[in-house]
Amino acid sequence: KIVILGSSNTDLITKVKKFPAPGETIVGKEYMEAMGGKGANQAMAAHRLGANVQFITCMGGDENGKNALAYYKKEGLDVSSSLIVNEVASGTAIIMVDEHGENSIIITPGANNKLDPTYLLSIENIIKEADILVLQMETPYETVKKACALAKKNQTQVILNVAPAMPIDNAFLNNVDILVVNETEAETLSGGKIENIGEEAVVNILLDKGVKAVVLTLGKNGCFYKNREERMSLGAFEVDAVDTTAAGDTFCGALAAEIARGNSWENSLIFASAASAICITKMGAQPSIPKEDEVRAFLSK
Ligand code: ADP
Repeated sequence: KIVILGSSNTDLITKVKKFPAPGETIVGKEYMEAMGGKGANQAMAAHRLGANVQFITCMGGDENGKNALAYYKKEGLDVSSSLIVNEVASGTAIIMVDEHGENSIIITPGANNKLDPTYLLSIENIIKEADILVLQMETPYETVKKACALAKKNQTQVILNVAPAMPIDNAFLNNVDILVVNETEAETLSGGKIENIGEEAVVNILLDKGVKAVVLTLGKNGCFYKNREERMSLGAFEVDAVDTTAAGDTFCGALAAEIARGNSWENSLIFASAASAICITKMGAQPSIPKEDEVRAFLSK
């Protein structure tokens, strides 16, 4: 079983020709609302991609929170141990997507910031019994740090996606089995610049900080993986990018699903790359996350 602890947001998405300058008002092309948030996207990805998933998040008692719960229920994603804090607004993200599929995002965390370390007491057994715990940084730092330590103590494998980018202390990283980072996140965490020292040297700094394995995602250039025994580079699949929102999240959820099934690193990374490539061909975070059979069909083409 995979337990995913993290954020849930309602995404308000508008397509624009180009992003507005300060003080400028522009006219959007298309509007949609969809569920997002890194935690929820990764949980939905692992769930749709065939894993047994429990998602733990915090929502407000508002309409957005209620709609989110209804959506997760309809999708069959288990959110039964999530926290509801009535007096705060659920998380939102205001997203602009330009003609190239690039995005510009404002997140208002709301209830996501209420997932305090004390809540871990209520879900301790769930973490203990999980095979894999997946975390991101849209939940309070101390909660994520303590959850990693709790997982480690109970032989639950930890996958940490340090998104959004931030520095993390070594005592925290020591409890991480698999670190998943994009280029910005890797640079923030390591203090090294890929442009200057190369991707492998940056990954080596992260391995020296105590994580067991690193997956560095490189957007349309694919990904690079390294642990103490092996290393591999994989290209991305060629697709027309419509909206890159949730590419990294789909990658993380897919990777967790494949590792939970006991697949090899190579096959897991290929599967995750395919799932995220499909994701970027569609608008929205969760609406664009594929199901397992879609990914298998894509891979057999
Ligand atoms: P994030 O979304 O977290 O910034 P990346 O941009 O590195 O992460 O993307 C994660 C993964 O998604 C990549 O490793 C790649 O497999 C896939 N991906 C991202 N952008 C593209 C693209 N333009 N074409 C094909 N695959 C992509």
